[in-house]
Amino acid sequence: MKLDVNVLRYLSKDDFRVLTAVEMGMRNHEIVPSELVERIASLKHGGTYKVLKNLLKYKLLHHDASKYDGFRLTYLGYDFLAIKTLVNRGIFTGVGRQIGVGKESDIFEVAQEDGTILAMKLHRLGRTSFRAVKSKRDYLRHRSSFSWLYLSRLAALKEFAFMKALEEHDFPVPKAIDCNRHCVIMSLVQGYPMVQVKQLQNPETIFEKIIGIVVRLAEHGLIHCDFNEFNIMIDDEEKITMIDFPQMVSVSHRNAQMYFDRDIECIFKFFRKRFNMIFHEDKGESDETEVDENSRPSFYDITKDANALDRDLEASGFTRKEQNDLDKFIEGGVEKSEDSDEDEDEESDDKEQTCESNEEENVDELKSLQLQEKEQKSSDGVEAEVKLDDTEKGENSEDKDDAVSDEKEEEDDPELVKQLGKQRRRAMAAARGGRKSQSSRNSYKDKGGRSQNSKIHSNMSGW
Ligand code: ADP
Ligand code: MG
Repeated sequence: MKLDVNVLRYLSKDDFRVLTAVEMGMRNHEIVPSELVERIASLKHGGTYKVLKNLLKYKLLHHDASKYDGFRLTYLGYDFLAIKTLVNRGIFTGVGRQIGVGKESDIFEVAQEDGTILAMKLHRLGRTSFRAVKSKRDYLRHRSSFSWLYLSRLAALKEFAFMKALEEHDFPVPKAIDCNRHCVIMSLVQGYPMVQVKQLQNPETIFEKIIGIVVRLAEHGLIHCDFNEFNIMIDDEEKITMIDFPQMVSVSHRNAQMYFDRDIECIFKFFRKRFNMIFHEDKGESDETEVDENSRPSFYDITKDANALDRDLEASGFTRKEQNDLDKFIEGGVEKSEDSDEDEDEESDDKEQTCESNEEENVDELKSLQLQEKEQKSSDGVEAEVKLDDTEKGENSEDKDDAVSDEKEEEDDPELVKQLGKQRRRAMAAARGGRKSQSSRNSYKDKGGRSQNSKIHSNMSGW
């Protein structure tokens, strides 16, 4: 998929408003009914249709009329929402070339106003090998396409949280700068993935350094789980940086030892093949560099502090619930057969997952929407007619009382989002016959923490 950021220049405020409306609708709908988009966006003179057409043209939305007329965000649409938010926060001003394509991510360079180049990782869970996708799809068989966005957002949040915590414990990782939706901004690592390196001045030293990282991670309670030549960067001074953390697990994980041994084995294997290092288990290649196989670390011999990083991670806003959701996805694909209690897990998770909704229910919702809207209007009086006037200030008590008021929203245009949220809640409440919407597991918890007023003009372009 091409990320043509030039499109951003041509998107108007209304375009983003409708895009945001679809995103909000996706908290409760796999495909957001057109009427709901229109209601949430609530553009003057019924302008939503024209805007939807524009968003479809740029492939930011996908139209689905199989069950009813509706829309969902594409990854590109989700990219644009994240990029716009981060630009508005002043994190970067322009998007440059693509520097990496991971299994489930795209990595781009982004530039700050002063010319500093950072790396932007856009998570794309679901884009992986066919087998893995299939088993993941089985696992997610009734899940909505929103789940992919939700899971990608979790992967980004986890990656950001781990990167920050690891950095604080002096692990060689990129500097975590910010995170929004499925997007992580981090420092750009100078160098290349180990897989591209043909020669090292001193392979044994590098080997020991790398194995040392795996061991120290375990001492801190963690296993990388994808520790290999693709996720270890090395620069010209042979400085090592590890990357790619969404799949990390705790040493208390039931398969911890297997993951640990696998990480270690990956390194042994790579150094054996690439740098002709031989270990005592290898026989018959006596002219090669030898490393004592007894140096292979044993998981059981490591003094592990399973809680060492827990506090940091909790403080980062990555909750245990989110960790569990992500684990289920990752393990659903990787080790499904080992997971004997999976059915039970799925069942309980289904109960929790409020992002998907029954299509018939949606249609009913819509049918009753018009009827109840009238009632709503008469009881709400002028409030029901709230238009999204950007100059309006809306810190009223009704907002504070809202069931979803704990959701931290977009800060690029907080007023817009507040109003959109209000409209959406009203629309949903009307559709549900007055029931207040429950805080969904897919509530967007923007990590935020930055000034709401940071408004640096966006200059979105490839340069
Ligand atoms: P995935 O999770 O999809 O495997 P990675 O985080 O491993 O994604 O990134 C994929 C590739 O992008 C890496 O192999 C590396 O070449 C590049 N990359 C990732 N992060 C950075 C970074 N901070 N600086 C420079 N290059 C990076
Ligand atoms: Mg990787």
